[in-house]
Amino acid sequence: MSISPFQSNAEIISHEDVRTSGTYGKRGIAIVRGLGATLWDADGTQYIDCVGGQGAANLGHAHPAVVAAIQHQATQLISCPEIFHNDQRAAYLDELGAALPAGMGRLFLCNSGTEAVESALKFARLHTGRTQIVAAMRAFHGRTMGALSATYEPKYREPFEPLIPGVTHVPYDKIVALAAAVSDQTAAVILEPVQGEGGVRPASPGYLAAAAEICRQHGALLLVDEVQTGFGRTGSLFAVSQDGVTPDVLIMAKSMAGGVPMGAIAIHESLGGFTPASHGSTFGGNPLACAAGRAALKALIDDDLPAHAARKGQYIMEYLNERQLSKVREVRGRGLLIGIELKERVQPTLVALMERGVLALPAGPNVLRLLPPLVISDAEIDQALAIICEVLT
Ligand SMILES: *Cc1c(COP(=O)(O)O)cnc(C)c1O
Repeated sequence: MSISPFQSNAEIISHEDVRTSGTYGKRGIAIVRGLGATLWDADGTQYIDCVGGQGAANLGHAHPAVVAAIQHQATQLISCPEIFHNDQRAAYLDELGAALPAGMGRLFLCNSGTEAVESALKFARLHTGRTQIVAAMRAFHGRTMGALSATYEPKYREPFEPLIPGVTHVPYDKIVALAAAVSDQTAAVILEPVQGEGGVRPASPGYLAAAAEICRQHGALLLVDEVQTGFGRTGSLFAVSQDGVTPDVLIMAKSMAGGVPMGAIAIHESLGGFTPASHGSTFGGNPLACAAGRAALKALIDDDLPAHAARKGQYIMEYLNERQLSKVREVRGRGLLIGIELKERVQPTLVALMERGVLALPAGPNVLRLLPPLVISDAEIDQALAIICEVLT
């Protein structure tokens, strides 16, 4: 048993702050326990969770099926590199394959979103023999050098330049601008169905389908980054199915394995897969993550959580729109990926919400982002909404 040596927020914070890298701007509480959409700090204060593990906790905290799968698999086998076959991996590939859009038949397993994006970029170079990538302004694809090259935010990119060459950024959701940027030199176009970190911006209906057609005309691949939108978040298991689009590569991570670190790409079967030894990962496809992934996927489907996301998200957006809150410019989103654009900076609102028992996220300087677990109850939603309205009036 890993009994905590600490009793309070203050104790934990003082220890953590001595050795932490310094890259994170942390909030002044220490979260030690969770259940569903409820979190507790070390002082025993309870919160409604609208952070959802930054997108990794679609199933809620301590989901019993995920807990049981992890506990059992830990007694069987935790690590098993892909030089061997494994029962949990084989079952997960079957089950995930069956849940993906038809044709997305080749899977590469890794451990995080940025790693999945790297895998997709490498596959695009390998498959097309080209190096040019077209991404969108305000896009977020991760922090490692390849994924960072496709990420837009200058303050994330500029300290690390030169990044990989050949990446251009076009305005998001603008078909004409995309068509003008893609050529016979383009290896791939990479897009999010809803831009998450970039301010919660859903693409218009038809945009992804147009992107797929533009790619097809030029022999470029369409890489759809569903790291944040996937696994039920926007009202369907994957957002691309709402657009009727089958990507060449679908990029996944965050809630894939019920909160256990995992990422993946699914490659369309018409493209084959990686050539031997062209890519790899030590932890990729490990049995613990695969067992958690199986339990998470089954629970998402059995409990109909994508439909919950659609209904609850629509309720929240209608509720906020009806109130005409004085500090709010616009409410937008899809499913339970919700952005509330404010007329002022979001930071003070995040603090005020936390003081009243609601944890939420920013998405850029002036957007409040709600990303609750899809299992959040109607009562918790109403409680959180009452507090949000109080703070935004
Ligand atoms: C979070 C995110 C990533 C990066 O995932 P990490 O696991 O943090 O590396 C990539 N793309 C999108 C759309 C994301 O939201």
